[in-house]
Amino acid sequence: MPVASCSRCKVARANVKRSKTADCLCKECFFYCFETEIHETITKGRLFKRGDTVAIGASGGKDSTVLAYILKLLNDRHDYGLHLQLLSIDEGITGYRDDSLETVKQNGVDYALPLQILSYEDLYGWTMDEIVRATGVRNNCTFCGVFRRQALERGAQLMKCSVIATGHNADDIAETILMNILRGDIARLGRSTNIITNDNEEEGEGGDLSWGIPRCKPFKYTYEKEIVLYARFKSLLYFSTECIYSPNAYRGHVRVHLKELEKVRPSVILDIIHSGECLQVARPGRLPTKGVCERCAFISSQRVCKACVLLQGLNSGRPKLGICKSSKLRGLKRGEEGGEDVS
Ligand code: SF4
Repeated sequence: MPVASCSRCKVARANVKRSKTADCLCKECFFYCFETEIHETITKGRLFKRGDTVAIGASGGKDSTVLAYILKLLNDRHDYGLHLQLLSIDEGITGYRDDSLETVKQNGVDYALPLQILSYEDLYGWTMDEIVRATGVRNNCTFCGVFRRQALERGAQLMKCSVIATGHNADDIAETILMNILRGDIARLGRSTNIITNDNEEEGEGGDLSWGIPRCKPFKYTYEKEIVLYARFKSLLYFSTECIYSPNAYRGHVRVHLKELEKVRPSVILDIIHSGECLQVARPGRLPTKGVCERCAFISSQRVCKACVLLQGLNSGRPKLGICKSSKLRGLKRGEEGGEDVS
């Protein structure tokens, strides 16, 4: 059987068939297209400005490892003028995060990037292992998502960063759009396609309005399978084990469904993102006002921020108080289910 040649250079043998474009490419042309598309996403979306100090959310997984590698490469190649740093959150998940943090430390050495690690235990007095023991596995991602969001902000402030870059890829964003549709969560649906969030106008995950450091997603249009391929072809060191608590996340069911759809229609991921971008969601009539949490003094639209509400439940031995639909906490804003995040 004749071996297909690369549809771009027409010379080398093709190694990759891209779902996005159906192009068959050789390794070098795949690198060129992959890197160029991310550069275009960064420049067209104006994700950074010259002189920015960027905290790269680093978990040691494939997405954040490739993100750190490629931001360094593009920063050098195109002279963005960025100061790049790695920021890791240690949720305290034995056999998962402790191992993946070793990968991040090695990446920091390999890419010559400074690394800051913040732990839930230091910030909140609880590890995720302890939270799961206290609450069970059903709502673990709600606690984890709310705490991570705040921990990233605290870490970026500590490092004096002006922007946070996360490794959320096109598959993650398509999953989030589907999840919000399936849950009827219109407020989150409206912002789930934004390439930059925390831009002083949006309600943050967990129900709080956020005025914090902007977060951007350079991989918004990048397929997960191409990130894996890029990491393998470049022999990048990354950690590939799933979080031991993730099978219980609602996101997992949506992911399985999306993978099934992708088999019959490879463009489905970008199609869902496009549909999400085109949806017009009515803005709420009254925007919450900026304030600080009266307990931890962190920015919040509520008198007590979501993280402190969850902590109150944990510390009082009533962990469901912070996540139940109708709050039993007098004077506190009701908690919302669904702080799920991807790590
Ligand atoms: Fe946290 Fe993600 Fe694990 Fe859920 S799946 S517990 S959000 S690390």
